[in-house]
Amino acid sequence: MRFYVTTAIPYVNAAPHLGHALELVQADVLARHRRLRGHQVRFLTGTDDNAVKNVQAARAAGVPVREFVTANAARFAALREPLALSFDDFIATSADHRHAEGVRRLWRECAAAGDFYRRTYRGLYCGGCEQFYQPDELAGGACPEHGTEPEAVEEENWFFRLSRYQDTILRALESGRVRVVPEARRNEVLAFVRGGLADFSVSRPAARAGGWGIGVPGDPSQVVYVWWDALANYVTALGYGTGDAAYRTWWTDADERVHAIGKGIVRFHAVYWLALLLSVGRSLPTTIVVHDYLTVDGAKIAKSAGNAVDPAALVDRWGSDALRWWLLADVAPVGDTDFTTERLVRRANQDLAHGIGNLVHRTTSLVRRHRGGGVREVPGVGTNLPRQVDQALERYDFRAATRAFTVTVDGANRLIEAKRPWEASEEVDVVLGTLLHTCRVLATELEPFLPAGAKRLSRQLTGEASGPAFPRWE
Ligand SMILES: [Zn+2]
Repeated sequence: MRFYVTTAIPYVNAAPHLGHALELVQADVLARHRRLRGHQVRFLTGTDDNAVKNVQAARAAGVPVREFVTANAARFAALREPLALSFDDFIATSADHRHAEGVRRLWRECAAAGDFYRRTYRGLYCGGCEQFYQPDELAGGACPEHGTEPEAVEEENWFFRLSRYQDTILRALESGRVRVVPEARRNEVLAFVRGGLADFSVSRPAARAGGWGIGVPGDPSQVVYVWWDALANYVTALGYGTGDAAYRTWWTDADERVHAIGKGIVRFHAVYWLALLLSVGRSLPTTIVVHDYLTVDGAKIAKSAGNAVDPAALVDRWGSDALRWWLLADVAPVGDTDFTTERLVRRANQDLAHGIGNLVHRTTSLVRRHRGGGVREVPGVGTNLPRQVDQALERYDFRAATRAFTVTVDGANRLIEAKRPWEASEEVDVVLGTLLHTCRVLATELEPFLPAGAKRLSRQLTGEASGPAFPRWE
């Protein structure tokens, strides 16, 4: 099996926040889980450098755009270590020559397919979203994402014939050729497509973009619309425009092409991106996994709200295991989830310190005391854990996957209480062997979720380390 997984590429107008960490960790679990099962995996992330809002943020900060974008993109790339991410590639769309080449090739191919035309457009534009809104899509006259009033803009743009692809996109979504998970998000997209797809503008006057962005081939007065540019990253990073064999390997020939994204950009991925690929006759993604939003102490994560949470700072304080586990175990697939440090600590203590960590510590102590470590493993509790994890991740239900671990731990604890292996009996060898096997399965299966913690558990099981793998969080 060949598995390609990506995150969305965030704007670099501000530093990374907890919502970015959620998406990165989810994609990382998918990548690590497939590697553990012996699949071939490529995991891509990166940054969306070419947005006009990046230009505006740089100006507001009084820093040259290139310098500003490079510095912020580096902060996203630097999440790799604290969050224990295993991405294989990182694309910064303004700095990577593969990207501009690929975007220009896609543009020329769409043009050759007859999918572009030029027209004057008047509309309401949200700079935060970098998109035009219809009046009936606004909430009380304001952007539903940003709560700000969009700007009336009139300009000449290149338009893409999205309407041409309405039926094909609808069929792809209805048939499951392109899965959108969870169901609630799929239904929203289906309703949007059934409501009719209007052509959309895919370029901006270069002047309004401050000259930032990728020029439209053959039309220097325009730059490519940042969304058209950003979506392309999933194939430009594979060398779509440079003739790299990676494109065939990881896009055309992959068994699965999975995009992990946030709910605010479903339309771009499940509609516009499909249309773009259909226009140039390329394979579609197989799955679009959509996460909801996090709030922090009850408030929306936004720079303006002043409560942006720095994932690297949280890891400094609580460690990668606690943060990753909270993001995976506590965040609801649908509906906002509120982050508080109390919740993070409670979850880590309950599931990791008192749960998995305590079981492994108890088991290794018992084994050492009773048989000097010479116990043969006996399959029993936990045998089903790998299948349960597979099934949960097949549904992209990270919460269900983490629950399979706690259910296994509960089963092993019940066995301990029932069989009392500290009392000498004929069954001791079998009971300890069963517990040891359970711990081994737990440590192996935990690796995609908590790479650092799983390593400590394994070292404890081989006797290389003693002491709890998950000391209590205080
Ligand atoms: Zn907006």
